[in-house]
Amino acid sequence: EQAEIGLIGLGVMGSNLSLNIAEKGNRIAVFNRTPEATRQFYAHAGDLQKQIIPCETLEEFVAAIRPPRPIIIMIKAGDPVDQQMELLRPYLSAGDIMIDAGNANFRDTMRRFDHLKDSGLTFIGMGVSGGEEGARHGPSIMVGGKEESWKRVENVLTSISAKFNGDPCVAWLGENGAGHFVKTIHNGIEYADMQMIAEIYGILRDGLGMSAAEIGEVFDKWNNGRLNSYLIEISATVLKAADPISGKPMVDLIVDAAGQKGTGKWSVIEAQNMGVAATAIEAAVAGRILSSQKSEREAAEKIFGLPKIADLPSDKAAFINDLENALLAGKIGAYAQGFAVMAAASAEYKWNLPMPTIARIWRAGCIIRSQFLDEITSAFTKDPDVANLIVTPAFAQMVKDTDGALRRVVSFAALSGLPAPALASALSYFDAYRRARGTANLIQAQRDFFGAHGFDRIDGVDKHHGPWGSGLGEFA
Ligand code: NDP
Repeated sequence: EQAEIGLIGLGVMGSNLSLNIAEKGNRIAVFNRTPEATRQFYAHAGDLQKQIIPCETLEEFVAAIRPPRPIIIMIKAGDPVDQQMELLRPYLSAGDIMIDAGNANFRDTMRRFDHLKDSGLTFIGMGVSGGEEGARHGPSIMVGGKEESWKRVENVLTSISAKFNGDPCVAWLGENGAGHFVKTIHNGIEYADMQMIAEIYGILRDGLGMSAAEIGEVFDKWNNGRLNSYLIEISATVLKAADPISGKPMVDLIVDAAGQKGTGKWSVIEAQNMGVAATAIEAAVAGRILSSQKSEREAAEKIFGLPKIADLPSDKAAFINDLENALLAGKIGAYAQGFAVMAAASAEYKWNLPMPTIARIWRAGCIIRSQFLDEITSAFTKDPDVANLIVTPAFAQMVKDTDGALRRVVSFAALSGLPAPALASALSYFDAYRRARGTANLIQAQRDFFGAHGFDRIDGVDKHHGPWGSGLGEFA
């Protein structure tokens, strides 16, 4: 019996995804560049072996799949994907679907679509989130490509996806690069979410002098409230874990230099390309960059020392409550920005991205999964074309309820010299967004002064240059 689907790349993600596919009753053919990995994978597949066809050549692999053949390519992103696609192509027939499930830059996905345009083969760019565990038991899956291609894989992908109250966390989001673009923004939001949690942790640790385990308890409590989410849950678990060697809190022994693989950076680049302010996400990426400059930071601390921690509010419990609300407010800012970037890209690339669906398929399976995303789903379902999440009635109310706390927390952090760049960016974003009369009138005047750019007048008077005198001509 032929396989329903094929998968190339039995690394961490590919092998887990394959077991998931097999476990859900789908027959799957698998292939890996290095055949030893295929043998190892098959040897450890246990009862699922009967659903798996291990293949050591591309020829037998392709022959093992029912046409039109959907083939998931789950390998190292970048050039390897192009190489693998070219090696695979000679064996494929019209209608076969190559599915890149790695963390591709959506620009590469667009290019691959173009490349295959007249070949008779089709392509899907598919974002998969949830890490190893998600791949094995239910990831969130963001699909971009032709709708007909999606129809061919819909059943398999629905069977393996995460479920939120029974609702599958997979959807076709639009043509060509839509899926990988949405995955990129997912990761940008993930960076902001993680950074904000780390900033709050820093305030609790260095501002309030709490131990890792105590902070873990606070996060546990928050996980039962409005901040209920995977990232808060794992942060609590991590904070309470002890090092088996020394018995000390594990987190206290970890070097404070964060790694990154590039999707956060891409989300910032694309936000800039779209002309959308995604300041909290930018701050999160910059935060990781600064974190990695550990030796420079150590040298700078020797020069400057650290500011004294500001006087704490007398009511510690109330301040911890403020921290919870500040995190919620900051999170709203980051998600609003991420969705705004997607809205702009949707218009630019004519994807017609379904915002309520995106929020819906992020509710389970992926790293940013949370109760909060269910609230975003409701808000966008009621108002799918709203300009910004924060002006939907539900989120406007949430911002009104929490922005005071965010203000107090960012103030305390600033006075104490505790870095909180993502939270502060979210606050400034909100303050700029909600203020009808800003200060760019001065920027327009400056631009007119040195560049004769002209400006609009608030009184409608038709006068487009300032009385700057000789400056204008001289510096233009
Ligand atoms: P691994 O490092 O575990 O596996 C890499 C796989 O790529 C191996 O099967 C390897 O084959 C194959 N490979 C590398 N280069 C080539 C090549 N030139 N031609 C053919 N095959 C090649 O990676 P992951 O499973 O962690 O990641 C796979 C993809 O999934 C990446 O795009 C990653 O960004 C993405 N991803 C990862 C997540 C994670 O949590 N790890 C989460 C979501 C997405 P060989 O055995 O022959 O070396």
